[in-house]
Amino acid sequence: MATDLETRIRDAGLRVTGQRLAVLTALERAPHADADTVHRAVQRELPGTSLQAVYVVLNALATAGLIRRIEPAGSPALYERRIGDNHHHVVCTSCGAVADVDCVHGAAPCLAPSSTGGFVIDTAEVTFWGLCPACQPQQHRPAHERRADQQTHHVTSYGTED
Ligand SMILES: [Zn+2]
Ligand SMILES: [Zn+2]
Repeated sequence: MATDLETRIRDAGLRVTGQRLAVLTALERAPHADADTVHRAVQRELPGTSLQAVYVVLNALATAGLIRRIEPAGSPALYERRIGDNHHHVVCTSCGAVADVDCVHGAAPCLAPSSTGGFVIDTAEVTFWGLCPACQPQQHRPAHERRADQQTHHVTSYGTED
């Protein structure tokens, strides 16, 4: 596996380093991990690696197109190895769990904007919000109340960001 990773790093025009290999391995095991999670995983293999060093590696890998950065509202940036397929994400409003959603229309950009302002569109990033399977049974109220709560919550959080 390491050999394959080394080839991919070199093909992207980067030098192969232990930290880059460790970060890619960590993301292979835990997709949609934030920098802290990646840092903890890397430290197990390379003790003494700083969080700052992990950020530098994540940025270099993202710039080189080896990993993708996603930034759901209210969440730290998350990183993943699955790239270039225009897939989307569903985020749990309760625990923050993230899962992949394949492009439902089969080809990028999945959505047809009503106006593009002259831009030629090639990708779209959609974030779906809801409750993950683990969080659903913890709510004992009727479904229509939960949905109302979530809508209120969203309006509030968008308002405070402005
Ligand atoms: Zn959840
Ligand atoms: Zn993903």
